[in-house]
Amino acid sequence: MTRYAGKAWDACFLPRLSRLEVQRLPKEETLVVLPVGATEQHGPHLPSFTDTLIGEALLTEAFERLPEDAGVWLLPPIPFGKSTEHAEHPGTITFSAETLMKVLLDVGRSLSRAGFPRLLLFNTHGGNADLLNMMAREIRIDCGLTVFRMDAGGLKMGEGVIEEEERRIGLHGGDLETSLVLGIKSSWVHMELAPHEVPNFPGGYLDLKNKAYGWVMSDLSASGITGDASIATEGKGELLLTQGGQMIAEALLEMAAFDMKSIRSRD
Ligand SMILES: [Zn+2]
Repeated sequence: MTRYAGKAWDACFLPRLSRLEVQRLPKEETLVVLPVGATEQHGPHLPSFTDTLIGEALLTEAFERLPEDAGVWLLPPIPFGKSTEHAEHPGTITFSAETLMKVLLDVGRSLSRAGFPRLLLFNTHGGNADLLNMMAREIRIDCGLTVFRMDAGGLKMGEGVIEEEERRIGLHGGDLETSLVLGIKSSWVHMELAPHEVPNFPGGYLDLKNKAYGWVMSDLSASGITGDASIATEGKGELLLTQGGQMIAEALLEMAAFDMKSIRSRD
């Protein structure tokens, strides 16, 4: 039985250290990664834990690619996010926006008290994105930490693996997420129930990427997914994990070495 194996968990999992070890850690060049996931319905075929599971797996892949002295430390994932757009469906366990804001601020304050200078809010649920952007700034102001943001959904993962149209409309539980979960934990996927549902998204200014309207999942889809889950494969999932792990590892190294003071051109 192996759970949480690899460098991420064996070497770089911050809470595996004792109080003394954390105290003695040289912190100046460190980055602490807080994965923020969700527990929410992902259609009839995927586990509700999909987003948190994907976050853990991508980071496990990314940490394998970091040098020994990278100074990047991993926190346990927050397994619940702001999933109010899925609240009416069983399987969804959501924080309210206020709760998630307070949880993030408390984590930031705790890290700041311990002397850590940099925090990454690593997100794998689209519904968290706006709140996390706002909280990155709030934590910066409240604690003085340098706070980074990364959305797995914004990494442009899937080029050459997932078809372009599916990448545009497969927002939730489609080919990408289903392939990833197949690549991570195939026994948790019911492929015989995998839906194919494509909403009639409007174009022009109302294009989804403009965030021109607020929506809940039942506005978009009857099955609880958007996209084509039926074409997902374990092989695609493995490619996505490799691709995503590489992209994330490169970004983590940039963040760990970044000094906010370097931005201003004058004092
Ligand atoms: Zn998801």
